[in-house]
Amino acid sequence: MKVLEGKSVFSGIAIGKIQVWKEETDQVKRVHVPDRNQELLRLEEAKEKAIEELKKLYHKAEAETGSSEAEIFEVHQMMLDEGEYIEDIKSRIRTESVNAEYAATAAGEHFADMFRKMDNEYMQERAADIQDITKRLVRVLSGEKKNRNVIQEPVILVAQDLSPSDTILLDKDKILAFVLKKGSANSHTAILARAMNIPALIQVPFSDDIEGSRAIVDGEKGKLFLDPDKEFLEKYTKEQVAEQEKQKLLAAFKGKETITKGGRRIKLFANIGSGEDIKAVLSNDGEGIGLFRSEFLYLGKEQLPTEEEQFQIYKDVALQMGDKKVIIRTLDLGADKQAPCFQMDKEENPAMGCRGIRLCLEHPQVFKTQLKAILRAGIYGNLSIMYPMITSAWEITKIKEILKEVKLELQEEGKPYKDLEQGIMVETPAAAVISDLLAKEVDFFSIGTNDLTQYTLAMDRQNEKLESFYEPGHEAVLRLIRMVIENAHKAGIWAGICGELGADTRFTEEFVKMGIDELSVSPARILPLRRLIRSMDED
Ligand code: PEP
Ligand code: MG
Repeated sequence: MKVLEGKSVFSGIAIGKIQVWKEETDQVKRVHVPDRNQELLRLEEAKEKAIEELKKLYHKAEAETGSSEAEIFEVHQMMLDEGEYIEDIKSRIRTESVNAEYAATAAGEHFADMFRKMDNEYMQERAADIQDITKRLVRVLSGEKKNRNVIQEPVILVAQDLSPSDTILLDKDKILAFVLKKGSANSHTAILARAMNIPALIQVPFSDDIEGSRAIVDGEKGKLFLDPDKEFLEKYTKEQVAEQEKQKLLAAFKGKETITKGGRRIKLFANIGSGEDIKAVLSNDGEGIGLFRSEFLYLGKEQLPTEEEQFQIYKDVALQMGDKKVIIRTLDLGADKQAPCFQMDKEENPAMGCRGIRLCLEHPQVFKTQLKAILRAGIYGNLSIMYPMITSAWEITKIKEILKEVKLELQEEGKPYKDLEQGIMVETPAAAVISDLLAKEVDFFSIGTNDLTQYTLAMDRQNEKLESFYEPGHEAVLRLIRMVIENAHKAGIWAGICGELGADTRFTEEFVKMGIDELSVSPARILPLRRLIRSMDED
């Protein structure tokens, strides 16, 4: 038996077979092709398929944003269909006998470089279009890659790292545990693992030859045991049963109030990323949903979800939760959350870039589509809207203007909707510092400690090398949290925490003392927190 040590992201024991996640590398290899005509035919087929995709994108964009914004997809179709770019790819295949992926990449780099060097700004921007169509073409050409990671049976999934878009597309019933070689505790992949309620480890130094091995994941100790002997396996099987017994004991706290012995009531809500998570919220007796990360609906999607698609999802969540509150956070894309349906410009510093509300204010049509869907779904339950990454009061003013327009449009379209409570995430130090001003503009605050910590400490939450410096519950962050709660209460609004720190039981008592009104955590953390809060004396 071999023992590998890493860090725990979520506890629990898993026993099963290992499947190694195959990387979708961007590296395109140069391969000599014996039959050039065959390769040209493959290119032709991929081209047709890519054009089909672009046609669909055009219609979708036209419906959502109007024809001038959709035009770009027509331009991409034309660039692919005929002209110098596609001719250059063909010529490389003919003269160099190389694979179409390589020829497309080389032609793409050549033309992008040419555009970049032009004086005219408009022409320089065409470099991004060339890169975009090249990416599409290469993806279609290597279409089989999409099926590289078929998971047939429940497995322990082992990967170098997983992006949030990879993770969101996984069939949750088939994953017993996650084991990552890289990763950080505050990444969205770690957050998703917690929501899935399965053991998860990061920074485990495994070698690549473990595919198919039998293994045990101990999420509590942060260990991966490879090829355990019979005796060891039996010991862990017993521990797994004991773990399940512990879970049953927690079940005694279902249906009980989240209230301290002194009578302080705390709302104990859940964080979710999709409608599928509602099952876990209800089975763990969540009192509401404090954070619906709506951007997870966009991850891994080739096309933006339409108003109607989003409406159905939010409506379904609202109906399932009945009169319990559901706080839908508007699209928080950017940084590590990149969606193929929303091509963002490459940024030097994406965590500080055009993300969250900034992206929505830059793309009002996408924002409006989502707002319409949420307002319409509001009729079916107890929904609230929350905006991410706020830094200034003017952003709220702007949001209110857009909201007004959205309501007028809904009236004109004859679609019924409901006015909903409006809140903001306090996750930038700026928002925390001016929380006295922001509190006058909204109905509630939800403190996003993941980003608030990253920006206050100036430490990338994704960077595993910083973990010895990264201190959850740093005094600077705690002081900001206290200030935000005080300012909220002075203005007569409530304040909660929906970042991971809200589930960290080392700080629960302090948060309760500060006067926190709500904690929103991954579903599996609800009952342990309720048990803890019920043991506190605070009044
Ligand atoms: C946060 O930043 O604390 C938060 C809840 O948002 P996310 O983790 O999705 O950035
Ligand atoms: Mg955040």
